[in-house]
Amino acid sequence: MTEKPWLAHYPPEVPKTLDYKSMPVQEYLTHAYEQFPKKTAIHFMGRDVSYEELYDSSMKFANYLQGLGIQKGDRVSVMLPNCPQAVISFYGILYAGGVVVMTNPLYTEREIAYQMNDSDAKAIVSLDILFPRISKVVKDTKLENVIITGVKDYLPFPKNMIYPFIQKRQTGLSVKVEHRGVNHLFTEVMKTASKEVETAEFDFNEDLALLQYTGGTTGSPKGVMLTHKNLISNATMCDTWLYKCKRGEETVLGIIPLFHVYGLTTVLILSVMQGNRMVLLPKFDAETALKTINKQKPTLFPGAPTLYIGLMNHPDIGKYDLSSIEACLSGSAPLPVDVQEKFEKITGGKLVEGYGLTETSPVTHSNLIWGERVKGSIGFPYPDTDCKIFLPGTTDEVPAGEIGEIAISGPQVMKGYWNRPDDTAATIVNGWLLTGDLGYMDEDGHFFIVDRKKDMIIAGGFNIYPREIEEVLYEHEAVQECVVAGIPDPYRGETVKAYIVQKEGYTVSEEEFNKYCREHLAAFKVPRVYEFRKELPKTAVGKILRRSLVDEEVAKQNEA
Ligand code: AMP
Repeated sequence: MTEKPWLAHYPPEVPKTLDYKSMPVQEYLTHAYEQFPKKTAIHFMGRDVSYEELYDSSMKFANYLQGLGIQKGDRVSVMLPNCPQAVISFYGILYAGGVVVMTNPLYTEREIAYQMNDSDAKAIVSLDILFPRISKVVKDTKLENVIITGVKDYLPFPKNMIYPFIQKRQTGLSVKVEHRGVNHLFTEVMKTASKEVETAEFDFNEDLALLQYTGGTTGSPKGVMLTHKNLISNATMCDTWLYKCKRGEETVLGIIPLFHVYGLTTVLILSVMQGNRMVLLPKFDAETALKTINKQKPTLFPGAPTLYIGLMNHPDIGKYDLSSIEACLSGSAPLPVDVQEKFEKITGGKLVEGYGLTETSPVTHSNLIWGERVKGSIGFPYPDTDCKIFLPGTTDEVPAGEIGEIAISGPQVMKGYWNRPDDTAATIVNGWLLTGDLGYMDEDGHFFIVDRKKDMIIAGGFNIYPREIEEVLYEHEAVQECVVAGIPDPYRGETVKAYIVQKEGYTVSEEEFNKYCREHLAAFKVPRVYEFRKELPKTAVGKILRRSLVDEEVAKQNEA
């Protein structure tokens, strides 16, 4: 087997190794502002924010944070949906020398308190409607400042006047922000702060830009320490892979959450790095997304399979012009081949599957956007990224074609887990990040994910990979979405259960699915139990929450 066989397949436009600018991430914004201040950086619900406004606001925010006592290395949480304030906060915190802690706006009080305490955050930036939740936990944390903004602050007139009423109707909440005087309104900052910011000494390799929480391969949420080098290198790799892009002229559709590292790198950083326009949507609903594509004409659209599935199954898809789309990277979960084909046919653009994880900033692999692809593969490692398949539990490489644990090394691999040296030592072994994903490489260097180590089902002594069964189910014409999980079984240890959402107009029975699966799968893999649902639980990036379905099942069995 040749060393790194995938390199032979790189198109001539993609260098095998890259140069990285050893500068802080926020310099991308400084450069974009210096080059084209008047260009639109963000489009949000009818309002344009230019690079000049984005830069000025970020600097003012940095000045304000420094005034609050935020110093180099201090953690500041951003708990916002996709909106201009999320981008301003991210760059502002970095200009101030702080470390961004991205917080999911759906978090419960307990989850917020856990994350604030674990990261030792000094301040949090959030939305007015989320304030009641935050205010309840402030006293249990070391938060010194809660900085509040509202979606309406960045809406054009008269939308900004009407929005509070729509918000109240949708959420039942009117906005009342009062709490022991620790909160400050974002809009006031923009009016009063100056752009004077003190800069501290900077270490490209060591300084953290982001603490990104993830369940990781084991246990409770951990803060993944991502340095400026991690983020810059991964953004540079993504930029290189998109070599046909007209940098500065693209429009990026930002639907995936910016509070997940996938949205952060491929939208928030990459768009500013290339000097593009990002169109932000605060949440995913298929109709709004289709209307936005029709009107705003995005060319790049990173997403997750559930997002593309949602669009492709919308009954009115034919009404919208989606032909602006040129390149989409799908990550987070397996991309069903038929969804990819349908999407490419309808839009005329490319949709390629990639792979990565929070611990790798996040992208490590991708199919070629303009080049040969192998169905069902996650593609090749990015430049400067090495990938090996290890015998699980070891760092011994297995031969091509054999399944093992996927391991990564490269400049995008995290510095470690925040305050968790033991977890770090168990995850980065001999310089290799053990991903907890099982997969294999073919002779040509294409990689394939088989499953997550912990999702593998062991039923009656057989190893069963849910993904294989899901692929078969997705080929059934009635299946809109599905997930397969191992549920406890007194005789077989675990048994295979399929959760299925059927497409509109379909009511295929359990017997029919069973017959279909028997035709396509070995008997031991055929689901023994089926459950039909209207929707499946998902994470913020649209990954189906297999574990929560198993937990539900366990609770049900315990009750019985
Ligand atoms: P996160 O840290 O939340 O980004 O989740 C990372 C995990 O998502 C990986 O370890 C994989 O289990 C899964 N994942 C990402 N991309 C893919 C893909 N293309 N196919 C299958 N699983 C994926």
